[in-house]
Amino acid sequence: MKKILYSSGIIVVIALVALLYTYATAFQVRNVDSMSIIDQEYSFDLEDETVQLLIKKLQVLKQYEQVTDIDSIVSETLVLDMKYSQEKTFEISLNHDFSSVYITDIKKEIIYQVDDDLVTWLYMLPPFESVYTYKTPLRHDLVIDDKKVFGASVDYFYMTADKQWHAQSIEEDSEPHIMIITEPNVMFSVRSDVDMYDVMLKVSKDDKILYEKPLKEGIYQPTDNGQYIYEVTSSWKDTFYYGHESTSFIVEAQYSPVFTVSGDSISQGEFIIIKGSGIYDPESLYIDQTYMEGLSFEKNGDLYECLIPSTYYTTPGVYSLNYGVGQYEYEFTFEVKTREFNLQFLTVDEKTTQTTQTAEAYAEYNKYYKPALLKNVYQSEASHLSDQAFVLPVTGRITTEFGVQRYVNNKPTSYHHSGLDIANDKGTEVVSTYDGEVVLAMSLIVTGNTVVISHGNGIFSSYLHMDSLNVEEGDKVRTGEQIGTIGSTGFSTGPHLHFTISYYKMNLEPGYFIYGEPVTYENYKTLFNN
Ligand SMILES: [Zn+2]
Repeated sequence: MKKILYSSGIIVVIALVALLYTYATAFQVRNVDSMSIIDQEYSFDLEDETVQLLIKKLQVLKQYEQVTDIDSIVSETLVLDMKYSQEKTFEISLNHDFSSVYITDIKKEIIYQVDDDLVTWLYMLPPFESVYTYKTPLRHDLVIDDKKVFGASVDYFYMTADKQWHAQSIEEDSEPHIMIITEPNVMFSVRSDVDMYDVMLKVSKDDKILYEKPLKEGIYQPTDNGQYIYEVTSSWKDTFYYGHESTSFIVEAQYSPVFTVSGDSISQGEFIIIKGSGIYDPESLYIDQTYMEGLSFEKNGDLYECLIPSTYYTTPGVYSLNYGVGQYEYEFTFEVKTREFNLQFLTVDEKTTQTTQTAEAYAEYNKYYKPALLKNVYQSEASHLSDQAFVLPVTGRITTEFGVQRYVNNKPTSYHHSGLDIANDKGTEVVSTYDGEVVLAMSLIVTGNTVVISHGNGIFSSYLHMDSLNVEEGDKVRTGEQIGTIGSTGFSTGPHLHFTISYYKMNLEPGYFIYGEPVTYENYKTLFNN
C-alpha cells in the first residue's frame, strides 16, 4: 500500500515536472526573452500589444495559406530568444503589395502568406523601410559636352502602406551652368536609367517663356544674343509614387553681328539698305556719315535696317560712311550715278491753274501735307525695304514717270515729278502699297483727296487726286487694303493716281520698292502684267 502511494507520488511529481517543463518551454509570449531583426539591429518591445499579437500569430501560422513561391523586395530574419529552449527563427518577406506579407518558418521550410491586420503594421516598421524603393526618386542626368549639369531640384511624392502620401524634395546646391555659344548650336542630352514619362524643355529669356515642348521634339536654338534659361524637367508617375526633377542651365548667345548691304552702286531715286542681324546691343548701333542728315537703323522684325536713299537732286558721285555695333565697325563706299529723266510738256487750263496754284493752296499744303511726312510712326514687323514687299496701288496707264522734268503750259518748272502718275477710270479702287499707319487723310486744294501712310524707316507713301477716301488718320492698313478710289481732285488734268514713295520728304523711285527697277513708259505694261 505504502509502495503504491510512493509510486503514485513519483508519477505525480514526474507529471508535474513534465507539466512545468511544457509550460516553461511552450512557444508563448511569456517565454520569449527578446525578439529582434538581427541584421537591422532592431529589437521589438515585448510590452507592446501589437508585438505580442505578432508572437501569437507566429505560434499559429498553420492557419494561413501556404505558398511555394514568393516575389519579395525585402526579407529579414526574425529571431526570438526563448527563456528555456532554443531560439526560434522566421523570415519575413515584403513586396510592394501592401495586402500581404510572407512569413517563412525556417525550421519547417514552410512559407505562409499572412494577409490580416498586422500586414500594414509590419510594412510601417523601420527595419522594412527599404520596401519603399521609390523613397529614392528617379533621377536624370543632364549632359552637356559629356559633362553632367548639377543644380537639379527634385520634388516627389510616395505612398506608404498606411495610405499616407509623403512629400520629399532634393535641392542640389550648385552655381548655374553657363554655356556660351557663338553660333546657334545648343546641344545637350538627358540620360536616365529608367524611362521617364515625359521630358519637357522650357526656355525663357527676361522672364518670358519662349519655348515649352517635349524634348523629343527638338532643342530650342537662341535667335538673338543674351542669356536664355533652359529648364529640363523629367516626370514620372506610378501608383505609389510620382514626381519630377528639374535642371536648369544658362545659354549665353554671343553671336557676332552680321551686316549685309543691298548694293554699292545706285541711280538717282534708288536706295541702299544695310541690314544687321545678331544685334544684341541695338543702343550701340551707329551710322557715321556726311551723305545726308538723319540716317539711322530701325528695327524691322529680327533685323535692324538702315535705308540710304537718293533722289533726283542727289549729286552723283562716290560717298563713304562708317557703321557698326559695339566693337564691330565697318566702312562702306557707294556710288550714286546720274539717271536721265524724261521731259514732259503739260497743258493745264488756266482755270484749274488759277484755282489750285494760289498762295492759300500752298499755305494749306505746307500746313498739312509736309508735316505728315515727318510722322514716322509705324514700325514694321518684318524686313520690307529691299525685298519688293510693296505692291502697286492701282494698275492703269503710266502717264508720268518718276523724276520727269515738267514744262507746264510751255513754261519750264524746276520741279521733278515726285512719283508715278497712273491713269485709270474714276472710281477704280486704290490700295495701300504696304502695311502702315495713315498719317494724313484729307482734301487739300493742290493735291485733292490725299492719303499719306507711314511704313517705318522714314518711308511714306502718298496718294493724291483721289475721288473718295476709305481711311482716316490713325488707321492701320495692310498691304493691298483699299484706301480710296481714283479721281481728279486738286491740280489734275484727268482721273489718275499720283503715287509717291518718299524717305521723309525725299522722293524715291517707287519702282524699286515694288519691282526692284524703275517703272517707265516702256516697261510698265510688262511689269503691271506680271
Ligand atoms: Zn503726278
